[in-house]
Amino acid sequence: RPSRRRPDERPKFQVSFEFFPPKTDVMEERFWDSIHKLAPLHPRFVSVTYGAGGSTRERTLRMVSRVKADTGVDAAAHLTCVGATRDEVDAVVRGYQEAGISRIVALRGDPAEGIGKPFTPHPDGYRNAADLVAGIRKIGNFDISVAAYPEKHPQSPNWEADIDNLKRKLDAGATRAITQMFFDNDDYFRLVDRAQAAGIAAPIVPGIQPIHSFKQISGFAARCGASIPGWVAERFEGLEEDPETHALVASAVAAEQVLELVDNGITEFHFYTLNRSNLVLALARLLGARPD
Ligand code: FAD
Repeated sequence: RPSRRRPDERPKFQVSFEFFPPKTDVMEERFWDSIHKLAPLHPRFVSVTYGAGGSTRERTLRMVSRVKADTGVDAAAHLTCVGATRDEVDAVVRGYQEAGISRIVALRGDPAEGIGKPFTPHPDGYRNAADLVAGIRKIGNFDISVAAYPEKHPQSPNWEADIDNLKRKLDAGATRAITQMFFDNDDYFRLVDRAQAAGIAAPIVPGIQPIHSFKQISGFAARCGASIPGWVAERFEGLEEDPETHALVASAVAAEQVLELVDNGITEFHFYTLNRSNLVLALARLLGARPD
């Protein structure tokens, strides 16, 4: 099993860490604390999300710029095209460029009325993520990541449409796809098989969401159309008032997921940190990552 090989015989893993721009001083403190713990693990990049409808435009830019300046780690800025004209989105891309940010995670975003409501592009805006990728490419030579969905995008009529859409985004100039959170690795393996059958050669990096709080993560999962299998839910049952056991179970569940992926040949991972470092630090350690 690759995960049990000696470090010098193990494949080399690449990790990236996703954060969200903090809203308050207390949250900002936690953000930097986590960044300073995770940055020394040599991630490929640290990414910072873009709030619904561009609500965090300035904060995302400020955070990615500072991550890069403070830690030397490459930073990736997320960007969506919902509710904005092409000119407005292009101005954000140029802002990233001027700040020395060369990586973008390009997304369509969700309508202000909520995920699941039909998406209507701005009349002068980019129509979807593929269109946005093409627009970014015209501005500069960015390393672009796009989203992929192990359980299919909730608004996609069928798998064929979803894989066609993924292919369009990659053909428009993205380097890799990062998946939505998933908790059953078989969903991920099926997505990879479907993508390969459609001629997609770009890496599809699994997005791993450690379940630091079952209540919170099951809420997030439901909102983005990711399901939590019964056997995962069962492991957390009755632990609401027992944070210590909850944390140990969370770590075991995430380790099991990551190591099963490793044993199936996966060498790149994207971790959703929610600005917390503990669980992700432990998982990256299992992959052999060590601070300087
Ligand atoms: P698209 O790839 O454009 O596709 C969305 C849906 O529309 C798909 O079902 C697709 O099949 C369909 N579609 C697209 N184009 C066409 C077409 N021409 N014809 C027919 N159907 C079409 N959201 C944020 O607001 N901020 C973030 O920072 C953020 N970061 C994310 C990071 C990752 C790794 C992931 C997986 C998601 C992230 N999201 C973020 C959520 C994302 O915005 C939503 O999942 C959104 O609903 C879809 O975005 P997309 O880029 O996948 O859209």
